[in-house]
Amino acid sequence: MLGPFELLWGAIFSLALALTAFKGGSLSIGGTIAAVLLGAFAYWFGGWQWFVLLAVFFLSSSWFTKYKEAEKQGVSKEFANPGPRDVFQVLANGALASLAAVIHYFWPEPALFVLFAGVIASVNADTWATELGILSKAKPRLMIAWKKVAVGTSGAVSLMGTVYAFAGALFIGAWAGGLTAVANGFGGWVPALAVVAAVGVGGLVGSLADSLFGATVQVMYRCPKCRKETERRIHKCGSATRRLRGFDWFDNDVVNLASSIAGGLVAAGLFGLLSLFLKP
Ligand SMILES: [Zn+2]
Repeated sequence: MLGPFELLWGAIFSLALALTAFKGGSLSIGGTIAAVLLGAFAYWFGGWQWFVLLAVFFLSSSWFTKYKEAEKQGVSKEFANPGPRDVFQVLANGALASLAAVIHYFWPEPALFVLFAGVIASVNADTWATELGILSKAKPRLMIAWKKVAVGTSGAVSLMGTVYAFAGALFIGAWAGGLTAVANGFGGWVPALAVVAAVGVGGLVGSLADSLFGATVQVMYRCPKCRKETERRIHKCGSATRRLRGFDWFDNDVVNLASSIAGGLVAAGLFGLLSLFLKP
């Protein structure tokens, strides 16, 4: 059972983490409140390893958002994503992660930690691909249609962006594996390495799913005046935009939710498979 001290520490740590991310400019006020809840749930129901993984994600993301900020600002104006994460963005990515922590409290299955890590790895892969890929000079291509589009377009992929995405997923995978090794008392390295592989691949799949949804079902508008594609209903020039493709309700948050679910499930499934094969 959760004692009063654990409840208190969970609240203090998650508040400190969310406020650090808020000060760094990566969370809005609503996003900060949602992040406090997400952190507290991770700490209370998952445990300190879960919280550390979340902290690694938030702190490294804040740093990446700041990295060469001025250079990125001009590029990202057409798109809804960059800027501080709001409450819906945090919840879209954090809902399944929190659920995994709560289930783990009642049913301590290691694959649930991998699911949690896979969700975070998907978001982190996307963050690295976006924040670093946006600085790339080469034009990315839209998934499926395979035409060249502006840097920062939802659904666009590039070789370097995919490499950054995989690196971002492996970064979380390595931390998740390390935390698993610590929890095992450095006894078994095989499960820890399985976690690294599963979370790395799951995060990459989640990030590719994000691009796939972005290129197909995500709503995209077009400004009739500037003749530019945008994710905004009202363009920065002030004119109302028209729907170009996708479903009206399938906005960025829904894409994030769907792709982080995909990443988390692939990570957990792959971990399950690896565990079967690696059983001594
Ligand atoms: Zn316009």
